Amino acid sequence: MGSLHNDEMKPHAGTMKPLDPEEFRRQGHLVIDFLADYYKNVDKYPVRSQVEPGYLKKRMPDSAPYDPEPIETILRDVQNDIVPGITHWQSPNYFAYFPSSGSIAGFLGEMLSTGFNVVGFNWMSSPAATELESIVMDWLGKMLKLPSEFLFSGGGGGVLQGTTCEAILCTLVAARDRMLKKIGRENINKLVVYGSDQTHSALQKAAQIAGINPNNFRAVATTKADAFGLTAEALRAAIKSDVESSGLVPLFLCATIGTTSSTAVDPLGPLCHVAEEYGMWVHVDAAYAGSACICPEYRHFLDGVEKAHSFSFNAHKWFLTTLDCCCLWVKDPGALIQALSTYPEYLRNKASESKQVVDYKDWQITLSRRFRSLKLWMVLRSYGVANLRKFLRSHIKMAKNFEGLIGMDRRFEVVVPRNFATVCFRVVAAEMEIVDSFNAKLLESVNESGKVYMTHAVVGGAYVMRFAVGASLTENRHVILAWKEVQEHANALLTSS
Ligand SMILES: *Cc1c(COP(=O)(O)O)cnc(C)c1O
Repeated sequence: MGSLHNDEMKPHAGTMKPLDPEEFRRQGHLVIDFLADYYKNVDKYPVRSQVEPGYLKKRMPDSAPYDPEPIETILRDVQNDIVPGITHWQSPNYFAYFPSSGSIAGFLGEMLSTGFNVVGFNWMSSPAATELESIVMDWLGKMLKLPSEFLFSGGGGGVLQGTTCEAILCTLVAARDRMLKKIGRENINKLVVYGSDQTHSALQKAAQIAGINPNNFRAVATTKADAFGLTAEALRAAIKSDVESSGLVPLFLCATIGTTSSTAVDPLGPLCHVAEEYGMWVHVDAAYAGSACICPEYRHFLDGVEKAHSFSFNAHKWFLTTLDCCCLWVKDPGALIQALSTYPEYLRNKASESKQVVDYKDWQITLSRRFRSLKLWMVLRSYGVANLRKFLRSHIKMAKNFEGLIGMDRRFEVVVPRNFATVCFRVVAAEMEIVDSFNAKLLESVNESGKVYMTHAVVGGAYVMRFAVGASLTENRHVILAWKEVQEHANALLTSS
């Protein structure tokens, strides 16, 4: 008698109905109730998880369960074992990195998308997935007042990528292949990629993957005097030296609107002007700050984007859309498609042959793709432009309030001018050597308390604390409380040292 026979005799075996509609309804309601309670109580958890590495292995069995377990038991373990190991990005006291703004519409859109569970690689595989994406990207492009060449209606087009890392990689390979077609593939070692010393590491990763010679990656220096923006002069000097002394070929510039460390803004107009002279591709990375540019008073940060070739921002950062959702527009979809398309027999179909449809598999790295536009569409419809602007402005106002509080305590300084809803600040002291370590100690002490969570950056050689408002549940009272925490920990550290 093998064990197989015994297993088949067990009550659950053979009766599994993994998509039983009534069971889905029952369990689905339990999960929604679970999450509603989670959001209600999320401010009571330590914001940054306090577990030690390996904590979960101690609580989990060695192997997967052989027999099925009920949802009630599993949810109980989520509460007891998983929640302690979660850093609560949805907490109103979360001010670290760039927050991920959750919302009902974003969540429910994700839920619908997961429910349909379509794999929309080409138009035929789910026409609505492709068409809604194109429509929503044009909507959003208009909200940002992107030049019409970026929209489908103007000959360009938008695509939803998972993350900015993918968006930059895809545009870089499009630029690479366009250039190599001109100068010959054997010259790949001459291609140079430019960013600033504030550009996100996504650019370096993309260059590594795209086969750019590691010696040809330029992180052009920025200065505090220029608020850590990349100047056209510095870019030109770097390019000139590469071209004139080394015979290299400038390929790609990644300009940033809202850098990760300090939300610095690169001046697009002058930078694009330099890039144009050398026939380079300019990508604009507005991962964080792009959202704010739907407000007329912040749109000026995008001035000059007319001359860029591609533009992206993360709707999953500050636009109420759940991870992942990076919006990428290109003026020349053909360049993307030439670099990324394949057309195997098993995907051939009439619609693609007709060339009347978009096949988004050719605009991205992977073949299979999620129905992401559904959640973005839900967000746009549920809140409307008016409320989205209000939401962004409320965060910027709270950050401004925080900045005002810092200004009233002479022990502290705001390190760089605030552009959006992120404030870089630190304790200043007479002896410069102790400043960095003191600020690091202060930040760790604040975060250990669990009451708030913020992270750090080093800008212009100085260690700074970053306070990024952006979690959807944050209200001004949380900002005031966060400042009180910082002050109290500073008091304690200053009197003990
Ligand atoms: C967050 C961020 C990124 C990385 O975004 P992913 O979507 O995680 O790849 C890139 N650039 C900037 C400016 C960012 O702030």
